[in-house]
Amino acid sequence: MRINCEVQVSHRSAGSVGKKCCRSSLGIGRLPDSKAEVSSLFIHLCTVQNKQGTKYKVAGNIEGVFTKFVSEGKFTIRFKEPPHDLCVKADVVLAKSFLSTLKMALQNKDINKMHLSNLAPAKQSQLEKPKTKLVILNKKDYPITTTFPYSLENLHVNNVELNRVENRIIGLKRLKSLDLSHNVIRTLPVAMNRMQCLTELHLSHNSLKEIDHRVFTGKLSRTLRRLDLSNNELELLPVTLKFLEGLVNLNVSSNKLRYLPLSLDRLQALKFLSASHNKLEVLPATLVHLQLEEMDIFGNSFIDGDNRDRLNLVPVSKSHGSFPRLKEIAALSCMRNGLRPTAADIPSTLADYLYSWLKCLCGGFCYESHTLAYVSLDVRKIAHSISVSVSNHVAAMATLCSKRCCDRYCKR
Ligand SMILES: [Zn+2]
Repeated sequence: MRINCEVQVSHRSAGSVGKKCCRSSLGIGRLPDSKAEVSSLFIHLCTVQNKQGTKYKVAGNIEGVFTKFVSEGKFTIRFKEPPHDLCVKADVVLAKSFLSTLKMALQNKDINKMHLSNLAPAKQSQLEKPKTKLVILNKKDYPITTTFPYSLENLHVNNVELNRVENRIIGLKRLKSLDLSHNVIRTLPVAMNRMQCLTELHLSHNSLKEIDHRVFTGKLSRTLRRLDLSNNELELLPVTLKFLEGLVNLNVSSNKLRYLPLSLDRLQALKFLSASHNKLEVLPATLVHLQLEEMDIFGNSFIDGDNRDRLNLVPVSKSHGSFPRLKEIAALSCMRNGLRPTAADIPSTLADYLYSWLKCLCGGFCYESHTLAYVSLDVRKIAHSISVSVSNHVAAMATLCSKRCCDRYCKR
């Protein structure tokens, strides 16, 4: 057991805090020719200045182990002789793993069951700061037999003909930014929804044709801020896109999209939307509920909202008139009264139904009883900065909650 960490050594007898924190390799083990018993165990501290390291006996020599902040990867080991305190800061998983081995040693557990170091001097690589950024621009640099450094926060793999997102990448627990643009990726694995701190995902210039709706659920949906799917072959975006509640920047330009999801207004944090160079004929009218800073919808084939002949203002589907189901009435009542029960309070199918609402142009909630209709949308009201190739009025698909709203928004 050997961990890469930062250690501050306090000399208690000198009454000072001693040396400052420095990169270290901290091991627990026994010398190769020693007996397999706890009395031959040492904690071995190596630094760049002292690669041979200092050995602290374990048996009967530890006055205390302080683990109050182990959830932050911090702990302190107090030795009797020499009277040193080792204040350790490491990766949380490594810190817990080290303490678990030390605990086994202090409890006199079978030494052969422990992962022990041979107390050899530390190598330079064991004393280097963990790598947080890796850029791979050449196929030959892509690791095949080795793993990616566990500490990576930023990974770029571009122009290497990568055809899938591997589990080795998905498993990087600290990854915040992943750029796999300019490859040949066709699908995204569902397991990506387990990535726990990914804020940026760049997948432009790949061969994505569709995205499984489950990808944008789970932990990923809570952390993602920037999503670039431009220059792929997408014809539809998954309806679960609406779950990316913190998304600020969405780029789906240069695909084959004919529609944007009607529920796009659920992305309340969205500020930058690029959907240029697609096959869009209409926009979701609910875009008016967003406060966008920039919207680029250049290079589409929008139906002109001023062209009353092409724009069919007659509702395309209508479900008003029939009496709503009890489930719908209850859901509307919840939403209107600010009640937001979760799957912990009500059956998960009901919770899914409750949050499947669409919004009417009036701001009201809709479930089954709504009318879909084309309306004319003034794009200047959607964002501060707009890039559009036709007039400022484009056709939009609206969900309308009542006959009153149909009369209000669909009149010629
Ligand atoms: Zn309405």
